[in-house]
Amino acid sequence: MDAAEFRAHGHRLIDWIIDYHQQVASLPVQAQVAPGETAAKLPEHPGAPDGFDALLVDLDRVVVPGLTNWQHPGFFAWFPANTGYPAILAELVSAGLGVQGMSWASSPAVTEVETRMMDWMAELLGLPDGFRSASASGGGVIQGSASEATLTSILAARYRATGGSVNADSDTTKLVAYATGQAHSSIEKGLRIAGIGTDHVRVVPHDANFAMRPDALAEAIAADRAAGLVPFWVCATVGTTNSLAVDPVRAVGEIARQEGLWLHVDAAMAGIATLCPELRWLNDGLELADSYGTNPHKWMGVTFDCNLFYTADRASLLGALSILPEYLRTAAAETGAVIDYRDWQVPLGRRFRALKLWFTLRTDGVGPAQAMIRDHLAWTSELAAWVAADERFEILAPHPLNLLCLALRAGDDATTALIERANATGTAMFTRTVLGDRVALRFSIGARSTTLDGVRSAWRLLQDLAN
Ligand code: PLP
Repeated sequence: MDAAEFRAHGHRLIDWIIDYHQQVASLPVQAQVAPGETAAKLPEHPGAPDGFDALLVDLDRVVVPGLTNWQHPGFFAWFPANTGYPAILAELVSAGLGVQGMSWASSPAVTEVETRMMDWMAELLGLPDGFRSASASGGGVIQGSASEATLTSILAARYRATGGSVNADSDTTKLVAYATGQAHSSIEKGLRIAGIGTDHVRVVPHDANFAMRPDALAEAIAADRAAGLVPFWVCATVGTTNSLAVDPVRAVGEIARQEGLWLHVDAAMAGIATLCPELRWLNDGLELADSYGTNPHKWMGVTFDCNLFYTADRASLLGALSILPEYLRTAAAETGAVIDYRDWQVPLGRRFRALKLWFTLRTDGVGPAQAMIRDHLAWTSELAAWVAADERFEILAPHPLNLLCLALRAGDDATTALIERANATGTAMFTRTVLGDRVALRFSIGARSTTLDGVRSAWRLLQDLAN
């Protein structure tokens, strides 16, 4: 493809993306394809290149029917992954520049724009000063996902708890970690990668609202200490995946401080709600956290992948992850005046992801995200009132934000069947979970294109199908 072709195809592709967004509501939300159906539309072997026109036709023929459409207004599944035009354009710039931001010297603007965006976001989210780049010992970095943020935090905590010796002897045999059974599966995965298997992961009991019980955490820590083990890391979740339960971060943080554990706060989706000042109660106790992660790629319209990872203990993070081979040594780094973000993450190479935040904040600002978040909360309350008025249904958990977990009183099989039937219609999509001993339909209101009418229609669909 030469420059002239790139220009022409690029314009057409932008049009194609706009058309996709404008027509997405007419597509099924959940992909209605069988396993192997998409692959069967592709030739088994690469063949000769046949050009961009044929490719565009195949985007519609091969790819679109195999998509579950996350930008669809009837998308009430999982948590949202909103994309936005400014962030899409920023992705194009990032790809177009083709630079690497592994160290300051490898492309200074990548690092410095990112540091500034992390500070802007800390301010917009009302996060503690200890996470800012100007603080004595903290700072922030963009990770690909909340899972990567969690892993990074575990590695930093592991370094601190062993006084750095883990880098040499890899001995994690005494380390113990804590989270409730409501914590995301990425916590167990991160711990496993870091050498802490399930025998050394304590599932801390939660209360009736699915939030961690601090007294149970304290007891578990004491029991492990008595057994000669080393409690080292606790994860509090602000907005669990199952039900958006909020662990009591302040009480957990006080125990963590007292006992010398690293507190990581996973606020993957709910943390973004604090763009709205009236929702800053979600930040209570964060000044006690050693690390924190939240995802603009979920609820803010900053296209995946964009996780904000902050730590108040940069030294432990660098201790865990910095390695300096001769080929990465730079004069700028030797002065100590610059950040080399490769030491803040698992991979070496890194994309210019901060552009997505910069473009979004410079063009749209946070106004549209704040308005959307407020709408989603209000609509969840309306939905809860409708559900409460239908005696066939019940609500299984508190719903302080934008997720309602509901079930049919007729039982778990009926709830599971309802989800399957609703998803098969293609007009709305929900996901299933288990809360306590009950199957729940998660009604997660988070897509940018969703409207109150859309929520009402989806609820009517559930009512009709429940008959
Ligand atoms: N933590 C929580 C609470 C989540 O809800 C999710 C995903 O929904 C994750 C972690 C994992 O997010 P990511 O896909 O960014 O790794």
